Amino acid sequence: MLPEFPNLTKCKKCDTILWLSEMKAIGTCDVWWDEECKSEWKNADRADFLDITDLFRALEMDNVKNDKDKEKDVRLQIWWTFNDRVREGEKLFAQEKDEVLWKQNCQMLIKLLDTKDDNQKIMTAELYRNLGEFKKSIKVINSIDKEYNWLIKKLTAECKKRNTLLIELNSDTDEEVENFDEKAGGFGRDTIIIATIIIVGLISLIIFFVFRRISKKRRDNK
Ligand SMILES: [Zn+2]
Repeated sequence: MLPEFPNLTKCKKCDTILWLSEMKAIGTCDVWWDEECKSEWKNADRADFLDITDLFRALEMDNVKNDKDKEKDVRLQIWWTFNDRVREGEKLFAQEKDEVLWKQNCQMLIKLLDTKDDNQKIMTAELYRNLGEFKKSIKVINSIDKEYNWLIKKLTAECKKRNTLLIELNSDTDEEVENFDEKAGGFGRDTIIIATIIIVGLISLIIFFVFRRISKKRRDNK
C-alpha cells in the first residue's frame, strides 16, 4: 500500500513545499512492485513529511499568506506536530525559541478558527487551555453543543485543575456504544441460530406429517 501523505508535503530532493491537492496526478504506480511503471516515474523525486521548521517555512509562502484556509491548515499542523512530541515522550520545546514560536502559533490559530463550528470550538478551547487562559477556555467550552457533554465535563475539569498539558480526548461513551454494539451483535447471532433451529424443526415436522398423511391415504386406497 502507498503511504498516505498529508495535503502539505515537500519534495525530498529539493525541499520544495507542495500542496498535493493542487498537483496534477499524471498516473499512479507502485515504484517497487509495479513492473509496468514508467522509468521516469520510478526516478521521480519522492515526497516527504514536513517537520516544524518546514511548516514555519510554509507560513512564509505567498499562497499561504494570502489564503486564510491554508494558513489555518499549516498552523493546525504546527500545533499537532508540537503535540506529537509530547505523545512520543519528548519535551514540547526542544529549543529555547520553540516556546515563543509555539505560543505565537496558538494565538494566531485561535483567530483563524471558526467559532460557529463545534469541532473548531473544541480546538479553540484546547488552545486557550494550552496557553493557560482557563477563563477564556471555559467560556468557549460552555458554548459547545450539549451533545458533547462528556467532553465539556472533561475539558472543564482540566481547566479547574489548571492543567495546560496535552490530554487524550476519547469518550467513555464511545466505548459504551461499542460494547453495546458487540452485545447486540452477539445477541443477534444467537437469535439467528435459535430461529434457524426452530424453523428447520418446524419444516421437518410439517414434512413428516405431510408424508404420514400421504402414506396413510395410499394405504387407505389399497
Ligand atoms: Zn524537487
